[in-house]
Amino acid sequence: MADNPFRIDIQRVSQGTAKQDIKVPPEELGLDDVEGFTFENEVTGNLMVVLSGDDVFVTGTLKTTATGKCVCCLGPVHCDLRANIGLPYVKDERDADLPLDETAKGPVIDSYSGNTIEAAEQLRGVLLLELPDVPRCSADCKGLCPSCGANLNEGACACEPKDQDEEEEPMPDPANTWKDKLKQIKID
Ligand SMILES: [Zn+2]
Ligand SMILES: [Zn+2]
Repeated sequence: MADNPFRIDIQRVSQGTAKQDIKVPPEELGLDDVEGFTFENEVTGNLMVVLSGDDVFVTGTLKTTATGKCVCCLGPVHCDLRANIGLPYVKDERDADLPLDETAKGPVIDSYSGNTIEAAEQLRGVLLLELPDVPRCSADCKGLCPSCGANLNEGACACEPKDQDEEEEPMPDPANTWKDKLKQIKID
């Protein structure tokens, strides 16, 4: 890829509003090492960069799909992701050589120095927020049989339903068991 679409050139934007169509493989946003999800489709959408004085505002939409694993049946869960972007950047007036404070917490406004903004990391974060915390293949997933592990969404397994078992095999009466055992003892 000749041009990184997530690198914003401020000087180009200073002539107005810059609009950028996005159509990149998922690796371009570092989506190939997201735990629990695989990304097979391109990230598409568009970004618009607005410059106001030295403040930069990145807006737009990013879309892609991800496949995760259902927490109940371990089957695949397909997620359509659509993230609305709204990222403000302010110019860092401090020494441009200082590394940005990565330990800062909360919704900090990102700063930039020089004439370029590398937006990939923030955009990746916004897109990943769209992933479900607890992926489920459907709201009424039946899960796996606790006895044989069969996927109950694909039909009932051969295991006997629990409450029938209890009817067929009544609990032995402890008193009878005790008497039976006594009868079995033979004294010669
Ligand atoms: Zn499921
Ligand atoms: Zn079963």
